Amino acid sequence: METQMTPAQLKRWFDSPEFERQYHTEAPLGAWLEENGTHFALWAPTAQSVQLNLYVSGHEGEALRRVAMRKGDKGLWLHDEYSRLAGVYYDYDVTVNGKTYRTMDPYAKACGLNGQRGMVVDLPATDPEGWQRDAAPAKPNEDIIYEIHVKDFSWDPHSGVPEKLRGKFAALTLSDTTLDGKGECPTCLNHAMHLGATHIQLMPVYDYGSVDEAGDPDAFNWGYDPVNYNIPEGSYASDPARGEARIREMKEAVMAMHKQGFRVIMDVVYNHTYELESCLFKVAPWYFYRQKEDGSASNGSGCGTEIASERSMCARYILDSILYWTEEYHIDGFRFDLMGMLDVPLMNRIQQELDKRYGAGEKLLYGEPWSGGECRPVPGTQLAHKGNMKKLNPLIGAFCDNTRDAVKGSVMDEESKGFVNGGGLWADRLAGCVRAWAGSYGDFALPYQTITYLSSHDDWTLWDKLICTMDESRSFAGSDPRVIQANKLAFAMLACCQGHLFMLSGEEFGRTKQGVKNSYKSPVALNRMDWQRCHENRELVDYYRGLIALRQRLTGLQDKTAAAPQRVLDVCQVTQDAAAIRLDNGKDCAWAEALMCFNASHQEVTLNLPQGSWAILADGESSLLWQKPQTITGQATIQPMAALILGQVKA
Ligand code: CA
Repeated sequence: METQMTPAQLKRWFDSPEFERQYHTEAPLGAWLEENGTHFALWAPTAQSVQLNLYVSGHEGEALRRVAMRKGDKGLWLHDEYSRLAGVYYDYDVTVNGKTYRTMDPYAKACGLNGQRGMVVDLPATDPEGWQRDAAPAKPNEDIIYEIHVKDFSWDPHSGVPEKLRGKFAALTLSDTTLDGKGECPTCLNHAMHLGATHIQLMPVYDYGSVDEAGDPDAFNWGYDPVNYNIPEGSYASDPARGEARIREMKEAVMAMHKQGFRVIMDVVYNHTYELESCLFKVAPWYFYRQKEDGSASNGSGCGTEIASERSMCARYILDSILYWTEEYHIDGFRFDLMGMLDVPLMNRIQQELDKRYGAGEKLLYGEPWSGGECRPVPGTQLAHKGNMKKLNPLIGAFCDNTRDAVKGSVMDEESKGFVNGGGLWADRLAGCVRAWAGSYGDFALPYQTITYLSSHDDWTLWDKLICTMDESRSFAGSDPRVIQANKLAFAMLACCQGHLFMLSGEEFGRTKQGVKNSYKSPVALNRMDWQRCHENRELVDYYRGLIALRQRLTGLQDKTAAAPQRVLDVCQVTQDAAAIRLDNGKDCAWAEALMCFNASHQEVTLNLPQGSWAILADGESSLLWQKPQTITGQATIQPMAALILGQVKA
């Protein structure tokens, strides 16, 4: 009966409490092994019949065997085998409304080439040596989240990574790489460690569709086009056709990063799929997708589709997926792409379930608090966008566009300027940044929620944005000292903000994509981390490194509680383009107060200091002065286009 419904009628039925009552199930789904058997379970509530196909290969040849699945209750289709089918590939033929779809299992844990067929996998057999003892490093005082892309991170021939491993998960198992292998300038994770990063955020590493795993080895895409949510991407593995290789190699990478002292965060894209006719669509047409009233696909992602996170089996799918990555791959946190499309109750439930299993806040959750277009959830659904941050669990964070745009100008407009590139420096707005726009000062409940950043993979790199606004000749590949100075000032401002610090890899060496704003499918040569440039701009890298280390010592910036914004004691507009902010560090810090001064003008600025002695912790030249600080009283001079960070010496 229901199978004759139009897409618009299906929408109303799937939204009804009646559907949820009839079809919601917590029964196990997927394909899994037992001592003497293999179980298959698929949720396909509108199917008239389901056939299981078993194969020797993950991408070629006819089915070895075809089995009609038996219909269970709650929309389940089941089959049991009395032998262990580890290494056997499979897919389903799902017949709905007279139409048969051949599909992957949305719950598949392994697959063949290009994710076309699932594979029954003996998961413990994919564990690398020592995996049982693998654990995340202890939490640092301060999280420094460093965003990388598996392929562009080590692809550069100068990366010092052996050619065979470049662009692969395996490159992330190396901890001592240097420029051209000469033993001097650290590259890749060795560089990230020297810089002071504490968390590595991996751009999509689930199986995505835009790169042919059997094609050109230099093919490149960011990977925001999910195909299989619970399987690693094959182009990062040594052999994408062998189902277990990508699993083991991703685990090896996670384990190596843990050993090196990093926590590992995955970028997850549950808001849309690569194509509308995904495996989620084929097993239950339209159920997992939001629709317009006429029944066509809603496009809140700007990528063609929009996942219906508020429907109970869709919510279960997303939660199951997150729990699987934490359990099976030891992932320490998740960055939710377009989190503003997912609903508040689901996000809160994910946090709650993770806290219950691993301890409060042990797994870090944050996302983009916006969408890519108009969203059409069930009326009354609260979405996890910026305006609803205070309705989210206080441990769920979001990217802060206020600070990002205030410091260097809007990402929407190439010409738009911020504090450091001639847009003017207002003390009040700067104080909003420092207070992480939290509590009564903005959208965030407390600084714990605020992901403070200047650049991510999206939009111009920080360097390119500065070139666009400061250099009429647009010489992106250069190292204009004026732009270096503005870059230093920008990061000094960021490093003085409360909240979690986040950065795109390479921001610290003036990473350029030659002004390309959206490089998601640009060649890897354009996207790559240019390790020679890292060496050329090592002075800028050192400036970042010093501030990151200083931040680990300033309690006033580490406080992530709702009381933290009150640590800002005074906000002072010194001149039209210079401001100073006094921050209370409390008694647990070497410096009771910090005085953070920023001069975005081209003249020196003199500042009258509050009473007492002040140690110079960082200025526009060096961010390592705090290691052996000079002390001043009375007045301070802030150099043109520079920061000056002072610490009050205890009496
Ligand atoms: Ca793939």
